[in-house]
Amino acid sequence: MAVERTLAILKPDCVRKELVGEVLSRIQDAGFQLRALKMITMSKAEAEGFYSVHEDKPFFDDLTDFMSSGPCIPVVLEKENAIEDFRALIGATDPEEATDGTIRSDFAGSIEQNIVHGSDSPENGKKETAYFFAEHEIVANKSSME
Ligand code: GDP
Repeated sequence: MAVERTLAILKPDCVRKELVGEVLSRIQDAGFQLRALKMITMSKAEAEGFYSVHEDKPFFDDLTDFMSSGPCIPVVLEKENAIEDFRALIGATDPEEATDGTIRSDFAGSIEQNIVHGSDSPENGKKETAYFFAEHEIVANKSSME
């Protein structure tokens, strides 16, 4: 299986609920390597740019208000089969439909405030990573101190 990268975002509800440590633990316990991470607050325009594929959806304005409502944490993750495995770890978009034990099933309050984003394809993973990180901000290898 190919090593892939995916772009996760610990969304503003994850930060607000103080679940950052818990969610990162679950991600690392599932075998994902952290390659880049930072805390930012997106402007409304940045959130609209990130979710531009949804601009015609009825929830677009609410979603981009929410995503720009406070700090969030974009994270670049690497693992074999990262895209699919990460989607499995977080569960379905709607927490009511998410499999028990997934991050969204355990922590999400609603279909909109669903704790975490994950890219849905390798192509989008690349595009979304470039939205938040310059190439030099992505760590290539594990620490040489190991
Ligand atoms: P994802 O790939 O599982 O994050 O889901 P989508 O790409 O379909 O949607 C992007 C984000 O929009 C989701 O993570 C939710 O935060 C939000 N969203 C999706 N569907 C709905 C909806 O029907 N209502 C609302 N309010 N938000 C939604």
